[in-house]
Amino acid sequence: MMGRTIFIDPGRCIGCQACVSACRECDSHRGKSMIHLDYTEPGTSVASLPTVCMHCEDPVAPCAEVCPADAILVTADGVVQQADTSRCIGCANCVNACPFGVPKIDLQAKLQMKCNLCYDRTAYGLAPMCATVCPTGALFYGTLEELRAERPGVQVADSFAFGDVVVSTGVAMVVPADKVEWPVPGGLPVVEINGVDVR
Ligand code: SF4
Ligand code: SF4
Repeated sequence: MMGRTIFIDPGRCIGCQACVSACRECDSHRGKSMIHLDYTEPGTSVASLPTVCMHCEDPVAPCAEVCPADAILVTADGVVQQADTSRCIGCANCVNACPFGVPKIDLQAKLQMKCNLCYDRTAYGLAPMCATVCPTGALFYGTLEELRAERPGVQVADSFAFGDVVVSTGVAMVVPADKVEWPVPGGLPVVEINGVDVR
């Protein structure tokens, strides 16, 4: 796990969409949000959780590994950048490779877009936009020690199982202390192209 990173605490998410709005206001996304809310049981529950890039560490960034254009840079500190606009050809290989359903393709622009951990902010010690506006702390930015100082006894997970494959990530999830399971079972990715679910 990276030193300072995002910790996602689904139990605190109230679905207010403040994170989505804040992300949309970021200059580098041109009005589009790179974070989205997933609903765990649509139709029966309002339970929601924010989804950001998990910045996969092992295997390192499957999205970048499959990119035929070398458009996705992984920085020395483990941040997986969104696609370089001058290289991306919009082939969507990265969309299919991501186990968490994170990258989206803008078909008009032939461009992949995804969360880059607000690298323009975090590289200078500032928290990502989403974490600065989350009213409940469902998105926490800091070190594990800082998280535990605020929330004693909290359990976090950074390993997720997709069938036989375990993915270790730079972003971590807060998991219920009495239901810790290692690794955390990964869910089905939600795959959208220009807002349309194409599973
Ligand atoms: S859509 Fe762009 S970033 Fe994704 S694999 Fe294709 S060229 Fe690479
Ligand atoms: S979560 Fe998806 S988009 Fe983020 S680094 Fe992993 S494979 Fe790439």
